Amino acid sequence: MEDQRNIKLKLSNPQDIVILSHRNPDGDAVGSTVALARFLKKGNHAIKIIYPSEYPAVFQYLIDSNNPPIIYDLAPQQCIEAIKSAGLIFLLDFNSLDRIDKMGETVMFSNAYKVLIDHHIDPEPIADVILSDTAASSTSEMVYLFIKDLGMADRLDTSIGEALFTGIITDTGSFRYSTRGLTYQIAGELKSMGVDDYALSNTIFNALEPKNLKLLGHCLANRTVLLLEHKAAYIYLTKEDYTQFGISRGDTEGIVNYLLMMKDVSVAALITEQPTIIKISLRSKDDINVQQLAAAHFNGGGHKNASGGSAYAKLDDVINRFIKVVPNYVK
Ligand code: 5GP
Ligand code: MN
Repeated sequence: MEDQRNIKLKLSNPQDIVILSHRNPDGDAVGSTVALARFLKKGNHAIKIIYPSEYPAVFQYLIDSNNPPIIYDLAPQQCIEAIKSAGLIFLLDFNSLDRIDKMGETVMFSNAYKVLIDHHIDPEPIADVILSDTAASSTSEMVYLFIKDLGMADRLDTSIGEALFTGIITDTGSFRYSTRGLTYQIAGELKSMGVDDYALSNTIFNALEPKNLKLLGHCLANRTVLLLEHKAAYIYLTKEDYTQFGISRGDTEGIVNYLLMMKDVSVAALITEQPTIIKISLRSKDDINVQQLAAAHFNGGGHKNASGGSAYAKLDDVINRFIKVVPNYVK
Protein backbone atom coordinates (compact mmCIF):
# COMPACT_ATOMS: atom_id res chain seq x y z
CA MET A 1 0.00 0.00 0.00
CA GLU A 2 2.92 2.34 0.68
CA ASP A 3 4.12 1.57 -2.84
CA GLN A 4 0.69 2.54 -4.17
CA ARG A 5 0.83 5.81 -2.19
CA ASN A 6 4.27 6.64 -3.60
CA ILE A 7 3.21 5.85 -7.15
CA LYS A 8 0.06 7.93 -6.72
CA LEU A 9 2.16 10.84 -5.49
CA LYS A 10 4.47 10.58 -8.52
CA LEU A 11 1.42 10.51 -10.80
CA SER A 12 -0.19 13.53 -9.15
CA ASN A 13 1.44 15.90 -11.65
CA PRO A 14 2.20 15.39 -15.35
CA GLN A 15 5.27 13.26 -16.02
CA ASP A 16 7.30 11.98 -18.94
CA ILE A 17 6.56 8.29 -18.68
CA VAL A 18 8.14 5.39 -20.56
CA ILE A 19 6.39 2.01 -20.63
CA LEU A 20 8.71 -0.81 -21.66
CA SER A 21 8.11 -4.45 -22.45
CA HIS A 22 10.16 -7.40 -23.65
CA ARG A 23 11.68 -8.47 -26.96
CA ASN A 24 9.23 -10.25 -29.28
CA PRO A 25 6.27 -8.69 -27.48
CA ASP A 26 3.29 -11.04 -27.22
CA GLY A 27 -0.39 -10.32 -26.60
CA ASP A 28 0.20 -9.71 -22.91
CA ALA A 29 3.16 -7.41 -23.51
CA VAL A 30 1.24 -5.33 -26.06
CA GLY A 31 -2.06 -5.54 -24.14
CA SER A 32 -0.65 -4.53 -20.76
CA THR A 33 1.50 -1.68 -22.10
CA VAL A 34 -1.27 -0.23 -24.27
CA ALA A 35 -3.80 -0.50 -21.44
CA LEU A 36 -1.48 1.24 -18.99
CA ALA A 37 -0.67 3.95 -21.55
CA ARG A 38 -4.37 4.61 -22.22
CA PHE A 39 -5.04 4.78 -18.49
CA LEU A 40 -2.08 7.08 -17.71
CA LYS A 41 -2.95 9.42 -20.55
CA LYS A 42 -6.06 10.37 -18.65
CA GLY A 43 -3.73 11.89 -16.05
CA ASN A 44 -2.24 14.18 -18.70
CA HIS A 45 1.12 12.47 -18.74
CA ALA A 46 3.31 12.22 -21.84
CA ILE A 47 3.56 8.51 -22.57
CA LYS A 48 5.99 6.57 -24.75
CA ILE A 49 5.65 2.81 -25.22
CA ILE A 50 8.90 1.08 -26.18
CA TYR A 51 9.52 -2.49 -27.38
CA PRO A 52 12.97 -3.92 -28.22
CA SER A 53 11.62 -5.55 -31.40
CA GLU A 54 8.50 -5.33 -33.53
CA TYR A 55 5.08 -6.48 -32.31
CA PRO A 56 3.05 -9.09 -34.24
CA ALA A 57 0.76 -7.59 -36.90
CA VAL A 58 -2.23 -9.38 -35.35
CA PHE A 59 -2.17 -6.84 -32.48
CA GLN A 60 -2.36 -3.83 -34.80
CA TYR A 61 -5.92 -3.13 -33.59
CA LEU A 62 -4.45 -2.16 -30.21
CA ILE A 63 -2.03 0.41 -31.57
CA ASP A 64 -2.98 4.05 -31.07
CA SER A 65 -1.98 5.73 -34.33
CA ASN A 66 -1.30 9.06 -32.61
CA ASN A 67 1.10 7.39 -30.17
CA PRO A 68 2.53 4.19 -31.68
CA PRO A 69 5.20 2.21 -29.84
CA ILE A 70 8.82 3.04 -30.58
CA ILE A 71 10.80 -0.03 -31.65
CA TYR A 72 14.42 -0.16 -30.51
CA ASP A 73 15.50 -2.26 -33.51
CA LEU A 74 14.20 0.50 -35.82
CA ALA A 75 14.95 3.65 -33.79
CA PRO A 76 17.54 2.90 -31.09
CA GLN A 77 18.57 6.50 -30.42
CA GLN A 78 14.98 7.67 -29.97
CA CYS A 79 14.41 4.91 -27.42
CA ILE A 80 17.57 5.69 -25.47
CA GLU A 81 16.70 9.40 -25.35
CA ALA A 82 13.14 8.68 -24.22
CA ILE A 83 14.40 6.47 -21.40
CA LYS A 84 17.00 9.05 -20.36
CA SER A 85 14.47 11.87 -20.14
CA ALA A 86 11.70 9.88 -18.41
CA GLY A 87 10.76 10.71 -14.82
CA LEU A 88 8.88 7.45 -14.45
CA ILE A 89 9.50 4.10 -16.13
CA PHE A 90 7.11 1.15 -16.07
CA LEU A 91 8.62 -2.25 -16.86
CA LEU A 92 5.86 -4.64 -17.86
CA ASP A 93 5.77 -8.42 -18.40
CA PHE A 94 9.46 -9.19 -17.91
CA ASN A 95 11.68 -9.83 -14.94
CA SER A 96 15.28 -9.14 -15.92
CA LEU A 97 17.00 -6.38 -17.88
CA ASP A 98 18.50 -8.80 -20.40
CA ARG A 99 14.95 -9.21 -21.79
CA ILE A 100 15.16 -5.64 -23.16
CA ASP A 101 18.58 -6.09 -24.76
CA LYS A 102 20.80 -3.04 -24.98
CA MET A 103 18.21 -0.75 -23.37
CA GLY A 104 18.78 -2.63 -20.11
CA GLU A 105 21.89 -0.62 -19.35
CA THR A 106 20.18 2.73 -19.99
CA VAL A 107 17.31 1.72 -17.72
CA MET A 108 19.72 0.54 -15.02
CA PHE A 109 21.55 3.89 -14.94
CA SER A 110 18.44 6.05 -15.28
CA ASN A 111 17.39 8.08 -12.24
CA ALA A 112 13.72 7.68 -13.08
CA TYR A 113 11.34 6.14 -10.58
CA LYS A 114 10.89 2.58 -11.83
CA VAL A 115 7.91 0.30 -11.37
CA LEU A 116 7.98 -3.35 -12.41
CA ILE A 117 4.68 -5.15 -12.94
CA ASP A 118 5.23 -8.80 -13.84
CA HIS A 119 4.13 -12.41 -13.32
CA HIS A 120 7.30 -14.33 -14.21
CA ILE A 121 9.27 -16.39 -11.71
CA ASP A 122 12.25 -14.80 -9.87
CA PRO A 123 12.12 -11.08 -10.72
CA GLU A 124 15.48 -9.35 -10.44
CA PRO A 125 15.74 -6.21 -8.25
CA ILE A 126 15.59 -3.83 -11.21
CA ALA A 127 12.98 -1.29 -10.05
CA ASP A 128 12.09 0.91 -7.08
CA VAL A 129 8.76 -0.86 -6.81
CA ILE A 130 8.47 -4.55 -7.71
CA LEU A 131 4.90 -5.73 -8.17
CA SER A 132 5.40 -9.43 -8.83
CA ASP A 133 2.67 -12.05 -8.72
CA THR A 134 3.43 -15.45 -10.25
CA ALA A 135 -0.16 -16.53 -9.52
CA ALA A 136 -1.53 -13.87 -11.88
CA SER A 137 -2.59 -15.16 -15.30
CA SER A 138 -0.97 -12.26 -17.03
CA THR A 139 0.58 -8.85 -16.58
CA SER A 140 -2.66 -7.46 -18.01
CA GLU A 141 -4.57 -8.97 -15.08
CA MET A 142 -2.07 -7.26 -12.76
CA VAL A 143 -2.46 -3.89 -14.52
CA TYR A 144 -6.22 -4.11 -13.97
CA LEU A 145 -5.66 -4.74 -10.25
CA PHE A 146 -2.99 -2.01 -10.16
CA ILE A 147 -5.44 0.58 -11.51
CA LYS A 148 -8.05 -0.55 -8.97
CA ASP A 149 -5.51 -0.43 -6.12
CA LEU A 150 -4.71 3.16 -7.06
CA GLY A 151 -8.40 3.86 -6.47
CA MET A 152 -8.79 4.94 -10.10
CA ALA A 153 -11.14 2.29 -11.46
CA ASP A 154 -13.36 5.12 -12.70
CA ARG A 155 -10.76 5.77 -15.41
CA LEU A 156 -11.18 2.29 -16.91
CA ASP A 157 -13.01 2.22 -20.23
CA THR A 158 -13.74 -0.20 -23.07
CA SER A 159 -10.56 0.57 -24.99
CA ILE A 160 -8.44 -0.11 -21.90
CA GLY A 161 -10.56 -3.21 -21.28
CA GLU A 162 -9.92 -4.52 -24.81
CA ALA A 163 -6.18 -4.25 -24.33
CA LEU A 164 -6.35 -6.00 -20.94
CA PHE A 165 -8.64 -8.74 -22.26
CA THR A 166 -6.18 -9.35 -25.10
CA GLY A 167 -3.40 -9.99 -22.59
CA ILE A 168 -5.54 -12.31 -20.50
CA ILE A 169 -6.79 -14.50 -23.36
CA THR A 170 -3.42 -14.75 -25.05
CA ASP A 171 -1.48 -15.60 -21.88
CA THR A 172 -4.06 -18.17 -20.73
CA GLY A 173 -4.64 -19.78 -24.15
CA SER A 174 -8.28 -18.68 -23.88
CA PHE A 175 -8.64 -19.59 -20.20
CA ARG A 176 -7.10 -23.06 -20.53
CA TYR A 177 -4.11 -22.53 -18.23
CA SER A 178 -2.60 -20.14 -15.62
CA THR A 179 -6.03 -19.05 -14.44
CA ARG A 180 -7.32 -18.36 -10.94
CA GLY A 181 -10.73 -17.29 -9.74
CA LEU A 182 -9.75 -13.64 -10.07
CA THR A 183 -8.89 -14.15 -13.74
CA TYR A 184 -12.48 -15.10 -14.54
CA GLN A 185 -13.83 -12.38 -12.26
CA ILE A 186 -11.76 -9.71 -14.02
CA ALA A 187 -12.68 -11.09 -17.44
CA GLY A 188 -16.33 -10.87 -16.39
CA GLU A 189 -15.93 -7.28 -15.26
CA LEU A 190 -14.22 -6.38 -18.53
CA LYS A 191 -17.01 -7.97 -20.54
CA SER A 192 -19.61 -6.08 -18.49
CA MET A 193 -17.65 -2.94 -19.33
CA GLY A 194 -18.38 -3.56 -23.01
CA VAL A 195 -15.42 -5.62 -24.16
CA ASP A 196 -16.47 -7.82 -27.11
CA ASP A 197 -14.69 -11.07 -26.24
CA TYR A 198 -16.01 -12.93 -29.29
CA ALA A 199 -14.74 -10.28 -31.70
CA LEU A 200 -11.37 -10.18 -29.94
CA SER A 201 -10.97 -13.97 -30.08
CA ASN A 202 -11.82 -13.95 -33.78
CA THR A 203 -9.36 -11.17 -34.49
CA ILE A 204 -6.55 -12.86 -32.55
CA PHE A 205 -7.05 -16.59 -33.08
CA ASN A 206 -8.68 -16.80 -36.50
CA ALA A 207 -6.14 -14.66 -38.27
CA LEU A 208 -3.82 -17.17 -39.94
CA GLU A 209 -2.69 -17.11 -43.56
CA PRO A 210 -2.57 -20.31 -45.64
CA LYS A 211 1.21 -20.37 -45.21
CA ASN A 212 0.78 -20.71 -41.44
CA LEU A 213 -1.27 -23.89 -41.80
CA LYS A 214 1.23 -25.24 -44.33
CA LEU A 215 4.02 -24.56 -41.85
CA LEU A 216 2.04 -26.26 -39.07
CA GLY A 217 1.48 -29.29 -41.31
CA HIS A 218 5.18 -29.43 -42.10
CA CYS A 219 6.09 -29.22 -38.40
CA LEU A 220 3.69 -31.98 -37.40
CA ALA A 221 4.43 -34.27 -40.35
CA ASN A 222 8.16 -33.78 -40.89
CA ARG A 223 9.76 -32.01 -37.95
CA THR A 224 8.24 -33.72 -34.91
CA VAL A 225 10.39 -36.10 -32.86
CA LEU A 226 8.79 -38.15 -30.07
CA LEU A 227 10.73 -39.15 -26.96
CA LEU A 228 7.84 -41.03 -25.41
CA GLU A 229 10.00 -42.94 -22.91
CA HIS A 230 10.56 -39.51 -21.33
CA LYS A 231 7.05 -38.20 -22.01
CA ALA A 232 8.68 -35.58 -24.23
CA ALA A 233 8.52 -34.40 -27.81
CA TYR A 234 10.08 -31.65 -29.84
CA ILE A 235 9.77 -29.87 -33.15
CA TYR A 236 12.80 -28.34 -34.82
CA LEU A 237 12.99 -25.82 -37.65
CA THR A 238 16.07 -25.12 -39.73
CA LYS A 239 17.09 -21.92 -41.49
CA GLU A 240 16.08 -23.61 -44.74
CA ASP A 241 12.57 -24.20 -43.35
CA TYR A 242 12.36 -20.48 -42.59
CA THR A 243 13.20 -19.66 -46.20
CA GLN A 244 11.04 -22.38 -47.76
CA PHE A 245 7.91 -21.44 -45.81
CA GLY A 246 8.54 -17.70 -45.74
CA ILE A 247 8.41 -17.75 -41.94
CA SER A 248 8.73 -14.48 -40.10
CA ARG A 249 8.68 -13.55 -36.44
CA GLY A 250 5.48 -14.69 -34.78
CA ASP A 251 4.64 -17.36 -37.38
CA THR A 252 5.86 -20.12 -35.05
CA GLU A 253 3.73 -18.86 -32.16
CA GLY A 254 1.53 -21.59 -30.70
CA ILE A 255 3.02 -24.49 -32.67
CA VAL A 256 4.74 -26.00 -29.60
CA ASN A 257 1.36 -26.39 -27.88
CA TYR A 258 0.23 -29.01 -30.40
CA LEU A 259 2.71 -31.51 -28.95
CA LEU A 260 1.02 -31.31 -25.55
CA MET A 261 -2.24 -32.45 -27.17
CA MET A 262 -0.78 -35.97 -27.10
CA LYS A 263 -1.82 -37.71 -23.89
CA ASP A 264 1.60 -39.31 -23.39
CA VAL A 265 3.55 -36.08 -23.87
CA SER A 266 4.16 -33.90 -20.81
CA VAL A 267 7.08 -31.76 -22.00
CA ALA A 268 7.30 -30.12 -25.40
CA ALA A 269 9.94 -28.03 -27.10
CA LEU A 270 10.12 -25.98 -30.26
CA ILE A 271 13.74 -25.50 -31.26
CA THR A 272 14.36 -23.00 -34.03
CA GLU A 273 17.44 -21.90 -35.93
CA GLN A 274 17.48 -18.08 -35.93
CA PRO A 275 19.99 -15.93 -37.84
CA THR A 276 22.48 -15.82 -34.94
CA ILE A 277 21.06 -17.94 -32.12
CA ILE A 278 19.05 -21.07 -31.49
CA LYS A 279 15.79 -20.32 -29.71
CA ILE A 280 13.97 -22.87 -27.58
CA SER A 281 10.34 -22.62 -26.46
CA LEU A 282 9.25 -25.00 -23.72
CA ARG A 283 5.83 -26.09 -22.48
CA SER A 284 4.83 -28.64 -19.87
CA LYS A 285 1.89 -30.16 -18.06
CA ASP A 286 1.14 -30.28 -14.33
CA ASP A 287 4.15 -30.25 -12.02
CA ILE A 288 6.88 -30.53 -14.60
CA ASN A 289 8.92 -27.35 -14.27
CA VAL A 290 10.31 -26.08 -17.55
CA GLN A 291 11.29 -22.76 -15.96
CA GLN A 292 14.06 -24.63 -14.13
CA LEU A 293 15.02 -26.45 -17.32
CA ALA A 294 15.21 -23.20 -19.30
CA ALA A 295 17.16 -21.40 -16.57
CA ALA A 296 19.64 -24.23 -15.99
CA HIS A 297 20.38 -25.17 -19.60
CA PHE A 298 19.25 -22.46 -21.99
CA ASN A 299 19.99 -19.16 -20.29
CA GLY A 300 16.28 -18.48 -20.06
CA GLY A 301 13.25 -18.60 -17.82
CA GLY A 302 9.56 -17.75 -17.72
CA HIS A 303 6.84 -19.70 -15.98
CA LYS A 304 6.62 -23.23 -14.57
CA ASN A 305 4.66 -24.53 -17.56
CA ALA A 306 5.82 -22.10 -20.28
CA SER A 307 9.38 -20.94 -20.64
CA GLY A 308 11.96 -20.11 -23.22
CA GLY A 309 15.64 -19.59 -23.72
CA SER A 310 18.37 -19.46 -26.31
CA ALA A 311 21.90 -20.59 -27.03
CA TYR A 312 24.78 -19.55 -29.23
CA ALA A 313 25.29 -23.04 -30.60
CA LYS A 314 24.47 -25.32 -33.52
CA LEU A 315 20.90 -26.55 -33.94
CA ASP A 316 22.00 -30.17 -33.38
CA ASP A 317 23.84 -29.27 -30.19
CA VAL A 318 20.75 -27.61 -28.73
CA ILE A 319 18.56 -30.56 -29.74
CA ASN A 320 21.02 -32.98 -28.13
CA ARG A 321 21.20 -30.89 -24.98
CA PHE A 322 17.41 -30.96 -24.74
CA ILE A 323 17.32 -34.75 -25.25
CA LYS A 324 20.02 -35.21 -22.61
CA VAL A 325 18.54 -33.04 -19.86
CA VAL A 326 14.80 -33.51 -20.31
CA PRO A 327 14.64 -36.87 -18.44
CA ASN A 328 15.86 -35.07 -15.27
CA TYR A 329 12.76 -32.89 -15.24
CA VAL A 330 10.16 -35.59 -15.91
CA LYS A 331 9.26 -37.55 -12.81
P1 5GP B 1 7.78 -18.36 -25.68
O1 5GP B 1 8.15 -19.80 -25.65
O2 5GP B 1 6.33 -18.18 -26.03
O3 5GP B 1 8.71 -17.50 -26.45
O4 5GP B 1 7.90 -17.87 -24.19
C1 5GP B 1 7.30 -18.53 -23.11
C2 5GP B 1 7.62 -17.82 -21.82
O5 5GP B 1 9.01 -17.88 -21.56
C3 5GP B 1 7.27 -16.34 -21.83
O6 5GP B 1 6.72 -16.05 -20.57
C4 5GP B 1 8.57 -15.64 -22.00
O7 5GP B 1 8.59 -14.43 -21.31
C5 5GP B 1 9.58 -16.62 -21.44
N1 5GP B 1 10.81 -16.59 -22.25
C6 5GP B 1 10.89 -16.88 -23.57
N2 5GP B 1 12.16 -16.76 -24.01
C7 5GP B 1 12.90 -16.38 -22.94
C8 5GP B 1 14.30 -16.09 -22.75
O8 5GP B 1 15.10 -16.17 -23.67
N3 5GP B 1 14.67 -15.73 -21.50
C9 5GP B 1 13.78 -15.65 -20.47
N4 5GP B 1 14.24 -15.28 -19.26
N5 5GP B 1 12.47 -15.90 -20.61
C10 5GP B 1 12.03 -16.28 -21.82
MN1 MN C 1 2.77 -12.34 -19.71
